[in-house]
Amino acid sequence: MASTTFDFASWPPALSDTQLETLTVYATSYALSHGLLYLPPTASGRQPTVPSSAIHAPISLFPAPFPRKLFDQGRRIQKAYNILYARIAMDEEFLDRIMGAEEGVGKVDDFIGQLWRGWKKLRDVGLVQPLQFGLFRSDYLLHAPANEPLSIKQVEFNTISVSFGCLSQKVAELHRYLLSATNYYETSPFLKRENFPANDNITGLANGLAEAQKAYGVPGSQILFVVQTGERNVFDQRPLEYELLEKHSIHIIRQTFDELAHTASLDPSTSVLRVAVPKDIHPSGQVEISTVYYRAGYMPYDYATPADYATRFLLEESCAIKCPSIALQLAGGKKVQEVLTQPGMLERFLGDEAKYGKDGVLSQEEIEDLRKSFMGMWGLDVAEDMLTPDVDAVKAGREEFGVRKAREAALSLVLKPQREGGGNNVYKEAVPSFLDSLPPQERQAWIAMELIKSPEDTGNYLVRAGTESQAPVKAEVISELGIFGWALFGGSTKEVKEEEVGWLVRTKSKDSNEGGVATGFSVLDSLLLVD
Ligand code: ADP
Ligand code: MG
Repeated sequence: MASTTFDFASWPPALSDTQLETLTVYATSYALSHGLLYLPPTASGRQPTVPSSAIHAPISLFPAPFPRKLFDQGRRIQKAYNILYARIAMDEEFLDRIMGAEEGVGKVDDFIGQLWRGWKKLRDVGLVQPLQFGLFRSDYLLHAPANEPLSIKQVEFNTISVSFGCLSQKVAELHRYLLSATNYYETSPFLKRENFPANDNITGLANGLAEAQKAYGVPGSQILFVVQTGERNVFDQRPLEYELLEKHSIHIIRQTFDELAHTASLDPSTSVLRVAVPKDIHPSGQVEISTVYYRAGYMPYDYATPADYATRFLLEESCAIKCPSIALQLAGGKKVQEVLTQPGMLERFLGDEAKYGKDGVLSQEEIEDLRKSFMGMWGLDVAEDMLTPDVDAVKAGREEFGVRKAREAALSLVLKPQREGGGNNVYKEAVPSFLDSLPPQERQAWIAMELIKSPEDTGNYLVRAGTESQAPVKAEVISELGIFGWALFGGSTKEVKEEEVGWLVRTKSKDSNEGGVATGFSVLDSLLLVD
């Protein structure tokens, strides 16, 4: 059982004004020197084709204290999570039932419905690429209820466009540099080298993409990064390109859905995906794509026009390996996360020897290790048994059991719709009035989740570019750990090749419920392991 003697309320150590200023100069200079950067915001929201300036990413000055055993647990269970989500993505019956537009979330959520219908249509004709590839990030908060040992609880599991792998590695390096340069002014005995874990996300994530390229098996083919128009987080994406080129001799092509509408085409007989490029860039005028890596496409906003959906489905139809496939994107749904807490679900995907063979199943102990990371969750539309839709209540015009339970427990709950990218959840006091306003037919798309109680009174110094003085803000904070992994899977054997890669920490000030770095509520951080 994890326990820690570390006093979270003692964090961060006190610094004199001079120490604080020196540390800030060191930190921002290091960030600017090492590509820990963002493109600056513009009034129009557009970015120039040729970038010419950058600002440092929001960062913390100290690493975030985190119990070593719980960090180890997060890394350990990543293997099971990689396999779990790979197998969910291969289970069409399950995805149709939970996420589909006939029975599942897609029935009431237009975005999910569109994706599912596009996928279903392609499936009915027959998908040509049997392999799927995922870069994953499983997110956790420390859970510290009164009189109970600390634990980690999963916030969500991301299967599309997981970000901050590269920048997180650089923040870990930044904090190690601050330690070397200043020894953090001897302000804490915990601040020593062996408590700063290594973080090799760039190598690990690029290795995964290189595996996909290798599985595709065509020399000279390239990886397509599908990116958002106006993306500011490019310095989190570019290091993967450089690593793929330098270490694996794989070329990358970056395009938006908008561009791909004009440049992408399928070979009518082989379904090979080709992207047209100017002849003076590539003599043949086109490149073959081995792998489609999405850093866009996870929210409705990414599909400005029906043409963008058409482009997504064209890429899906191709024989390129998709990171992720639509199936894997749907597997990352919050509804799926909730369904996994229901009895027997983990056993279905991880313990079924008849289906996956003796070597393909996890032990009960490994399954429990993963299950321990779940918070309580339920669907708003469920009946008292929590497993079936509350049809009787609907017929009688009453609120479902799931809704009533959410009203009763509102103050310890967050409600989540089927969305990614931050800013969509409903918290605590806001729950009852939100439930009043939610049309009954939309309840199926929402889950209720018990709030994770992070340690109180812990703090950090947060530094943001663009504030005039560049002064760090001392704030009470909550830190969210993410563990990266990848999986390459499918084909006749349904085998899953996977690896755990590395980690990230995002730290938000306590007053904000949400924690998106890109949306401006939090900073990039790293780990200080404590016992
Ligand atoms: P998104 O897909 O928008 O990132 P998340 O499920 O990650 O959605 O929720 C956004 C943020 O809300 C998280 O980063 C976390 O700070 C907070 N949050 C989500 N679920 C919980 C929870 N159960 N307990 C406490 N905070 C939560
Ligand atoms: Mg999240």
